[in-house]
Amino acid sequence: MLKNPDLIERLTEGNRRFLAAEQSLGDVSPAVRRHTAEHGQAPFAIVVACSDARVMPESIFSAGLGEMFVSRVAGNVLDDHQLGSIEYAAGHLHCRLIVVLGHTGCGAVSAALSGGGDGFIKYITDEILLAVGDERDPGRACCLNVRHAVDTIRREFAAHPEIPTEELDVVGAVYDIADGSLKWLTD
Ligand SMILES: [Zn+2]
Repeated sequence: MLKNPDLIERLTEGNRRFLAAEQSLGDVSPAVRRHTAEHGQAPFAIVVACSDARVMPESIFSAGLGEMFVSRVAGNVLDDHQLGSIEYAAGHLHCRLIVVLGHTGCGAVSAALSGGGDGFIKYITDEILLAVGDERDPGRACCLNVRHAVDTIRREFAAHPEIPTEELDVVGAVYDIADGSLKWLTD
């Protein structure tokens, strides 16, 4: 049961506008830049997304300056740095919606399914392999990887003194890099 259906609808509607538009619709005007510099940020959603250059959360959701608190890392995996960012935005900026955004054609997921990476990339592919287990279908593995991050966030902040979990939604979604659409992963 969603606690913030209006916020989810705002993202869905933003994606609808993105699909219909020829360019990004988020407000990045000097006026909103000045306003957010003066009054601070009040993002309505936290988004954990992949670093893939084709996955731009603000564009996908037609969000402008100050509206979205975004943490991007290849494969949208979580470590303590991402969790710290989420903790800050949920606990101090009072965001009530956290979205883990996977995407089709994710190179990090593919690398994990092909046996994992070398060097620092291994930290990412190991985390993805932990999430997907024996699954080798890229689409299903992508969803499992997103759900793993959703579960981690729910677990880590289940009893946090500054984050009211009874008001918080943590949801997963998969973005299609070919047609620009969004699929919510409902429980
Ligand atoms: Zn990716």
